[in-house]
Amino acid sequence: TRRILSGVQPTGSLHLGNYLGAIMQWVEFQNTGKFFADPSSSGKEDGEEDAADDDGDGGIVVVNENFFCVVDLHAITMPQDPNELEESTLASAALYIAAGIDPEKSRVFVQSHVPAHAELAWLLNCATPMNWLERMIQYKDKAKKAGGGGDSIGVGLFTYPVLMAADILLYQADRVPVGEDQRQHLELARDIVRRFNNEYCRGNSYKARCKRAGLASRPAFTEPEAMIISPGGGGDGGTGGVARVMSLTDGTSKMSKSDPNDNSRINVLDPPDVIREKIKRCKTDSFAGGIEWDNPDRPEATNLLNIYAAVQPHRSREELYEEVKGMKWGDFKPLLADAIVAHLGPIQKRYAEVRADEGYLRRVLNEGANAADEIAQRTLKAAKVAMGFSIPK
Ligand code: ATP
Ligand code: MG
Repeated sequence: TRRILSGVQPTGSLHLGNYLGAIMQWVEFQNTGKFFADPSSSGKEDGEEDAADDDGDGGIVVVNENFFCVVDLHAITMPQDPNELEESTLASAALYIAAGIDPEKSRVFVQSHVPAHAELAWLLNCATPMNWLERMIQYKDKAKKAGGGGDSIGVGLFTYPVLMAADILLYQADRVPVGEDQRQHLELARDIVRRFNNEYCRGNSYKARCKRAGLASRPAFTEPEAMIISPGGGGDGGTGGVARVMSLTDGTSKMSKSDPNDNSRINVLDPPDVIREKIKRCKTDSFAGGIEWDNPDRPEATNLLNIYAAVQPHRSREELYEEVKGMKWGDFKPLLADAIVAHLGPIQKRYAEVRADEGYLRRVLNEGANAADEIAQRTLKAAKVAMGFSIPK
């Protein structure tokens, strides 16, 4: 079995960055066993392994097990409204399903429904050096935005990456499909695994503790691999995903839920007229001579083209570029807005259906949490045995 885990915070509404950088990739993987072209991994080799796994695993067919989590414990690391958390949690789960996550093929669950997340995070907090966390860019960014530090932010924001490591490690996930902004956190999770396994999971005393607890004496955690999709990457017909969708008001900062300006992002549930208006008003540049990709002086052009390509994954980059390269912004923008509206339309329709049947949604989440809990408890026990805790009998 190969296990995939990923999640999105339920704060605010999901935007195109979350969708193109994460959820759309999950759906692709769930349905095809592959992510959109991913030059950051071993590429072709990897694709072959996915299709017909006959090396390494000795001819055993790899079964993918997908876990998609609504990470509500992460959502409280920033100021949040208790009147909205439950609603936005259900909304996020419904959106996963509306976007194509099939509860028959993948597990969908809410992080706080599986207590092992918070518990393992505590153990790992005690096994992670402060200065590893002090290096985290997201912490520095978010702390700055929240007004510096001191009493304006909670400790949880600082240890956020440790909770994220716990999320991943609990499921012994092999692959973690996330956007480019999470690369540093993924690296940290790998560092935590190495340090933990090295410090606690070696030697005869470890073997003896495992034996007493009835566990095999292998390392407590699997080192996860990041799956990060490069901008508009892809080839033969597919344009791939977008590693980092940028803000509509600033092509150099990422589209984000926590940006107070709603015009900086397209939310997956924005109605068509709102999408059109946001695109109409979004930042462009005054370069003459048409629209182009990958000019470092034109971050907005690259971003808008990336979005245009990503919402039409069946069309090649070359084809799209031929279509739009001679255009002025005034011509391109309505085209882009239409493409986004056309892509999101069916998702929005399905979302309304899923939300109309809360019993179904709750059932999916309960089943997801039960399945997740079973695996998570096993890992938590292994971590506790490794650290020397008494295990209740
Ligand atoms: P916040 O600003 O509160 O951190 P967010 O918009 O970054 O919210 P997250 O829940 O932190 O959303 O991220 C969920 C997933 O979406 C992650 O896999 C992350 O890499 C991906 N993601 C978030 N923003 C972008 C973006 N602008 N482009 C591509 N992927 C993104
Ligand atoms: Mg984020």
